[in-house]
Amino acid sequence: MSQNGKSQPHERQTAPVIQVNNLTRTYQLAGEDVHALTNISLNIFPHQMTAIVGRSGSGKTTLLNLLAGLDDPTSGDVHMLGDNLKALDESARLALRRDKLGFVFQSFGLLPLLTAAENVGVPLRMRNLSRKERDDRVRESLEWVGLTRRANHRPYELSGGEQQRVAVARALAAHPEIILADEPTGQLDSQTGRKLLDLMRRLVEERGITIIIVSHDPQVMTEADVVHELRDGRLLETRIKNQTVAAH
Ligand code: ADP
Ligand code: MG
Repeated sequence: MSQNGKSQPHERQTAPVIQVNNLTRTYQLAGEDVHALTNISLNIFPHQMTAIVGRSGSGKTTLLNLLAGLDDPTSGDVHMLGDNLKALDESARLALRRDKLGFVFQSFGLLPLLTAAENVGVPLRMRNLSRKERDDRVRESLEWVGLTRRANHRPYELSGGEQQRVAVARALAAHPEIILADEPTGQLDSQTGRKLLDLMRRLVEERGITIIIVSHDPQVMTEADVVHELRDGRLLETRIKNQTVAAH
């Protein structure tokens, strides 16, 4: 017990799951440099919902791709769950994504000819799991997002909100530590978006998953525990719920 016996709510008790150090990504386009990200440093802490917000073109997707090791920075580095992504070869990164990360996209990314259950099972095919284990995970994940009764429906037979919940179930089936979502509410009306965020919140609270949402949806900014705001590829400020602003 410390002297005053209380910990401050903003005190970080745990190590970050992702550390971003001086990250810069410059694209070359038609002989010109596009400075998508400039000198970004931030930490992502476990069991929280972190939002990365900013206008279109501010560098959000670029940052998410770098966090997931889908793209390489021009300079700087990303430590993910203790590994420097630079030190991992492509197969090690693939294994990291497969075993530790889940992805949710704006456009849902479901395969149109497969049923909801089959879509959820797709990422599990790459893994060395028994048929029973795969079926159990698919069932459990669909149940978790409340779509057990839609298991045999194809995407066109589902609403946008339901399709996005299938995508969340697909991410969940891998039992990820971290879910990365790029504009997950972007194609949903605000009420359906609200429900999706409630689901994301339950993933944090009940399953201890770390959620990173890239978005310009005001609902996401309100819901998140931590908001990192980008402007023109720079980190403008970090806001922590119920706490004063840390400007950069
Ligand atoms: P956001 O997701 O916030 O809308 P992006 O990360 O997609 O922003 O893009 C950031 C900037 O980088 C934009 O100016 C965009 O045009 C540029 N950009 C993104 N991807 C590429 C690419 N592959 N080649 C050239 N420029 C790109
Ligand atoms: Mg984007």
